[in-house]
Amino acid sequence: MTGSWDWIVVGGGLCGSALAYELQRVGLAVLLLERDRPVRGATARSYGGIPYWAGTTALTQTLCREGIALHRNLSAELGRDTSLRELDLLLWQDLAADGAAVTRSYAECLFPPQNLTPEEAHSREPLLNPGAISGALLVRHAHVDPLTFITAYQEAFLKLGGAMVMAQVTGWQKDGCHGVGIQTETEIYIGAEFALCVGSETRLLCAQLDLESPVYFTHGEVLRMAPEVAPPMHCMVMPADVTRFAQEAATSTPEHDLLWRSPDYELIPPSVDAGVVPFDDRSLRVGQLSRVHTRGMPPHDPAASEQAIRDAIRPLFPSLADLPAQWHHSLVSFSRDGLPLVGLPYGSKNVHLFTGFTTPFIYAPPLARRFAAAVTGGQTHDSLLTQVSPRRFLD
Ligand SMILES: Cc1cc2nc3c(=O)[nH]c(=O)nc-3n(C[C@H](O)[C@H](O)[C@H](O)COP(=O)(O)OP(=O)(O)OC[C@H]3O[C@@H](n4cnc5c(N)ncnc54)[C@H](O)[C@@H]3O)c2cc1C
Repeated sequence: MTGSWDWIVVGGGLCGSALAYELQRVGLAVLLLERDRPVRGATARSYGGIPYWAGTTALTQTLCREGIALHRNLSAELGRDTSLRELDLLLWQDLAADGAAVTRSYAECLFPPQNLTPEEAHSREPLLNPGAISGALLVRHAHVDPLTFITAYQEAFLKLGGAMVMAQVTGWQKDGCHGVGIQTETEIYIGAEFALCVGSETRLLCAQLDLESPVYFTHGEVLRMAPEVAPPMHCMVMPADVTRFAQEAATSTPEHDLLWRSPDYELIPPSVDAGVVPFDDRSLRVGQLSRVHTRGMPPHDPAASEQAIRDAIRPLFPSLADLPAQWHHSLVSFSRDGLPLVGLPYGSKNVHLFTGFTTPFIYAPPLARRFAAAVTGGQTHDSLLTQVSPRRFLD
């Protein structure tokens, strides 16, 4: 047996890295366990967009304000550049779109986007074909390189005295559904409290403690075009109507829970949300194909996925559609209502979830800070955390 920690955080993607840093920052002794270096989960494949303008409720708008304020100060606080920058985001509308309805669907946003004609959108992003769209929405967006961002969190965590071990967690030392220690292939780590930040693998680790975990996952597939082949782009470009969100809502209702127990079942056919994201190093991420399938493995036919992405991109970005690219796959966790799962699942006394975020680049940093404040604040009640508790589906 090794050590004895106030908190053991499992998973060193965005969620685990932010949470481990915040817990260590408030004076707790924290161990972060991650199986891969470099990480290969959803964070490694992410676009890294920070939609701080997009909150539509009191809860999400509060988190958007806190999140962007935190991001803007984070490089100074962590002592390392997080790669934050701001750029224009164009949300394209297809030729059949009802422009007024699309505008209405964004009207409640903290910073509602502005309407553009196809020609105005083209003048902002010359690679975008104005003949393929009926219009676009324009909004200021923020962006980080995901790996640079989590490296900044992890280095600051280590500087504060946190410990990080590369190891695959295989199970628990347990007392009923109470976690006592974490088992890896070679060690057992003893902890008082545990946080699971393992995205799509949350179900697996919760099941070993007989805990319900209302976490689902999408297979996300993207192409990466290297800086040497990618032409420069000025804007991020995404669809105004994102089918992934509708797919996720449709496949995570209580009626679907039985299907999620089947090991190899496609809940909904794949679809592509055609978009292109320029990174700071001038590489591009092009995608995104999403499929909701209970199998945790990559799809059988990556070439077909790549072709589907290229076909979806072609009308919008004819000059990009055939450029050489590398295909990537990852599993992205989500919850039933689009809000994250932060806190104790039903039946658990010390195994917490910090996962299921649909857009964690804006929500995870402020929620990690609030979570750390709440666990050290004893009885202090944070009503915002109650709203994202995994128990909200049962109360
Ligand atoms: C193409 C694409 C674009 C996206 N764009 C955006 C965007 O613009 N903005 C945004 O906010 N979000 C975006 N997302 C979503 C976002 O990237 C993910 O939700 C987020 O990265 C998830 O972070 P995580 O830490 O929860 O999970 P992960 O990054 O998957 O990290 C989980 C970690 O846990 C580790 N792990 C798992 N099991 C074990 C175990 N048993 N033992 C030890 N370690 C373990 C894994 O190795 C992994 O590193 C996008 C996702 C994709 C795929």
